[in-house]
Amino acid sequence: MDKLAPSLLSWYRQMGRSLPWRDDPSPYHVLLSETMLQQTRVAAVLSRYHEILKVAPTIEDLASLKEEEMLKLWEGLGYYSRAKNLRKAAIQIQESAMFPDDYEGLRKLPGVGEYTAKALLAIAFHKKAVAVDGNLERVYSRLEMSEKEGPSLRKEAEAYFLEALGDEDPSPFNQALMDIGELVCLPNGAPRCGECPLQALCKAHEAGKETEFPKKKSRSAKKITLLQVFILHFEGKTVFRIRPEKGLLSSLAEFPNASGESPEEALSFLGLKAGPLSFLGHGSHAFTHLRWEMDWHEGELLLPPPEGYLLLGKEEAKGLPIPSAFSFGKRKAGIL
Ligand code: SF4
Repeated sequence: MDKLAPSLLSWYRQMGRSLPWRDDPSPYHVLLSETMLQQTRVAAVLSRYHEILKVAPTIEDLASLKEEEMLKLWEGLGYYSRAKNLRKAAIQIQESAMFPDDYEGLRKLPGVGEYTAKALLAIAFHKKAVAVDGNLERVYSRLEMSEKEGPSLRKEAEAYFLEALGDEDPSPFNQALMDIGELVCLPNGAPRCGECPLQALCKAHEAGKETEFPKKKSRSAKKITLLQVFILHFEGKTVFRIRPEKGLLSSLAEFPNASGESPEEALSFLGLKAGPLSFLGHGSHAFTHLRWEMDWHEGELLLPPPEGYLLLGKEEAKGLPIPSAFSFGKRKAGIL
């Protein structure tokens, strides 16, 4: 156990990833990058991180954005509640004129869960904490051949890594563990044990049982919803609407859609009256627990859309925060 931190940190000095938020791990940069990294791959975050900082170089700049500006800035990253919470957290920090630097204070920020709070404590404030996610659970379960799963695995992993941290700086220690979890101790039967600085301490490697850990959880299948989605035109403009304030993709814009097998029934459910429809194709979009199977149709409205819908020209529509689930329609309607 005593050897874990020195081996890990010496590996990190040579092999750790150079990531833009690591150059200046200020609380704002860590909050922004950790929020972006929730549910989005590093490669996708890399291309957008500077873009967001260009518009909002400080947390005060972020707090001053309107919600629709924030959502537009976040477009394509998905899971838009992150963007809304990030903006609310920035406003809260600006109003209190201080960035909280303890666990309880950080957890009061909208969108800051246990993992992000501990990552902030360790990386931005150099306080003793270890942020454990699924990657670190996997590393730990292989190191110790732990049979645990769920919250008890997380708890054990955290206690183990906190002990291993000792008096070292928690900032590089956490970032090194993140790199091991993402680059070396890979899931699905592919750990790169030959490149791993923890190999000599790893019980699963010694037993040749790396791929048997962590123990598999039974996963429930995603719910599938069949949606009829419409690109509808009226007098040269296209119809959109804003999703409800609560729930999936809340407050974002979308093409009119309704669940069901028949486009005619879906249209009548939406209160829209259109001429003949052309079928454009089928697409699907997966969320964490849900998959949309989407049939796309295009047509002309016979009557103007009722209240609650937006009728916009192409240039205006380009300013709408339309989530990637509707990318197919954006391409077809020429508003990318
Ligand atoms: Fe993971 Fe292999 Fe390293 Fe063990 S030795 S922690 S299984 S990469």
